[in-house]
Amino acid sequence: MDAGNKILENRMAKLPSVDYVLKHRTALVLQKEYGLSELTKVTRSILLEVRQSMINDQEALICDDASIFGLIQQRLEARAEKKVKAVLNLTGTVLHTNLGRAVLPQEAVDALRVAASEACILEYDVGAGKRGDRDELVEKLLCELTGAEAATVVNNNAAAVFLLLHALSAKKETIISRGELVEIGGSFRIPDIMLRAGAKLVEVGTTNRTHSKDFIEAITPKTAMIMKVHTSNYVVEGFTAHVEDDELAKIANDHAIAYVVDLGSGSLVDMTRYGLPKEPTPMEALSSGAHLITFSGDKLLGGPQCGMIVGKKELIAKIKKNPIKRMLRVSKLTLAALEAVLHLYRDPESLPEKLTVLKQLTRPREDILLQVNRVIEGLKNCFEDTSLSIHSQDVMSQIGSGSLPVERLPSSAIVVQGENKVGEKQVLQLEKFLRKVSIPVIGRVNDKHLILDLRCLRTDQEEILIQMIRFGLQNLITKK
Ligand SMILES: *Cc1c(COP(=O)(O)O)cnc(C)c1O
Repeated sequence: MDAGNKILENRMAKLPSVDYVLKHRTALVLQKEYGLSELTKVTRSILLEVRQSMINDQEALICDDASIFGLIQQRLEARAEKKVKAVLNLTGTVLHTNLGRAVLPQEAVDALRVAASEACILEYDVGAGKRGDRDELVEKLLCELTGAEAATVVNNNAAAVFLLLHALSAKKETIISRGELVEIGGSFRIPDIMLRAGAKLVEVGTTNRTHSKDFIEAITPKTAMIMKVHTSNYVVEGFTAHVEDDELAKIANDHAIAYVVDLGSGSLVDMTRYGLPKEPTPMEALSSGAHLITFSGDKLLGGPQCGMIVGKKELIAKIKKNPIKRMLRVSKLTLAALEAVLHLYRDPESLPEKLTVLKQLTRPREDILLQVNRVIEGLKNCFEDTSLSIHSQDVMSQIGSGSLPVERLPSSAIVVQGENKVGEKQVLQLEKFLRKVSIPVIGRVNDKHLILDLRCLRTDQEEILIQMIRFGLQNLITKK
């Protein structure tokens, strides 16, 4: 046996056993926190890894108790960390699908807590003391706010569109303008949904122009409905023509078929009253004669993920009878949060204060700029040892989730930029670092600049942001 092997053997012999570790004083504290099974599992794998790394690299290892426990504790903490955690959304996109879309208002959070931690009314008619219908929890409110006769709620708007097609147009034809055969991110394509729902798609018109006669000529005895899809994530400009809601409703009524509109976002109030761009409301679409409207819960509405179908009573009744409704139904948590959010709409004056999404969307640039300046002030002197500089910049935020794609909201951002080639690398390093801290900071890199749009940063989060950036800068410096 050569000398190297001998040394390795000696060191391995010094490695503590699983049993030794578990009986150690320090282990008791860890056991209390993480449980014996978890501690045993982690201890086993750490000891195995240490042994393996000794074999791979004889110089590498310290194997005293303190180091071993350090590794075990680190691993336990990492395993206990939740994947769903808070981030600072500084992307400039308010309704960011990858970051959970609408942040719920306090009222909804309170309602969620009750629904989550207590037995609650879900499908129970307290008056009659017997089984009720879960849709009834929010149906009245939805009807009140949209002017609809009836309403039902499912998992999301994609599900609402699917269910509607399946219930009303299976084995039948649905007519839709070619200009509206849209794809909404995340593999929601109208033609695919139609196919899966068993509805036959009849395309009419052209990409840019569709006329009344296109629809009329396409109607056959097999036609179930005309569908309109709000082209929420793009616009066709120039030589265009489309048929108005009331005209389509008239055509549908004349031929005794349904006219349905997928509004996508759909806002329950006229957004222009808050100085925001116009977004069609279910109320308007229904009063123009549409029979059914579908829209999302977590886009402009500012609530939990869900999809609403509102409109004519007999059509909603038919949809609710479809067995697929049972598969797409929402949980008590969703209904509790949705009900709380809908309540807020009864007082449109206080909505920008109370509804988080609207608060974020209506924040004026001046207010955001003041915050940008406060954060920059809080980072004074932090850039001295780096090749980076920081400044404020006017930017434009987006609403997101395909809502109002061309409209932008004036905002203000912190921009971190490199002073030279080293600095340019540090920008990327900092951006990456900020994504990995305990409260990840999600910005965007544009033209080698790190841009942090503060529209969605609350005042109580400013200090966190400052700390995270400081932390990131220190990390750069020590790494230089
Ligand atoms: C967003 C959107 C959908 C999908 O809604 P989800 O709630 O994300 O399922 C469907 N149609 C339109 C027009 C949309 O904008």
